[in-house]
Amino acid sequence: MVCHECDALQDVSHIPEGETGLCLCCGERLFKNPKSAIEKPLALMMACVILFIVANSYPLLHLEITGIERAVTITESAIIFYTQDSPELAMVVFLTSVVFPGFCVFSLFYVLISIHLKKQFLFVRPLLVWVGRLIPWGMMDVFLLAILVALVKLAALAHVVLGLGFIAFVALVVCYAAAVSSIEMHVLWSKLEKI
Ligand SMILES: [Zn+2]
Repeated sequence: MVCHECDALQDVSHIPEGETGLCLCCGERLFKNPKSAIEKPLALMMACVILFIVANSYPLLHLEITGIERAVTITESAIIFYTQDSPELAMVVFLTSVVFPGFCVFSLFYVLISIHLKKQFLFVRPLLVWVGRLIPWGMMDVFLLAILVALVKLAALAHVVLGLGFIAFVALVVCYAAAVSSIEMHVLWSKLEKI
């Protein structure tokens, strides 16, 4: 493994579970070999899969304006942007809040199960490559902030009730951040090599 600080080549294959490897030249943290490297992210990702389905199936908000009630889901909020002449914004919202996080959640769950069962499932490797590329493009937390800003503005105009989708979405943002931060891509690849 190459140190990203000083470019020195290091051997990290002998680092025991629960220990962190530091660069011998500059002391930079190279790699952590966590104790439950697969089980912890797998449990968190399983929760993410359930929360993702709930967050996308149930309304985020119920709005009541002049007696007319409307429930809005995540996908519908993207459609609202689309119908209000902001197709680019609609596409960005839909990709960064539904497509990319959804792909990462389901693919990581699939990859982690494959490693946990020590069976190499179909397309595990290309999926892991794509997940590594798409994780930075999942911006559910930014979308959550946008909803909160919109809520503050809407509260003055309409009667707003939070839906089950919103609660699931907040839990998903927290759970997804915990899952992604508990994953060491380096460990996943080295475990895949050994199956
Ligand atoms: Zn170094």
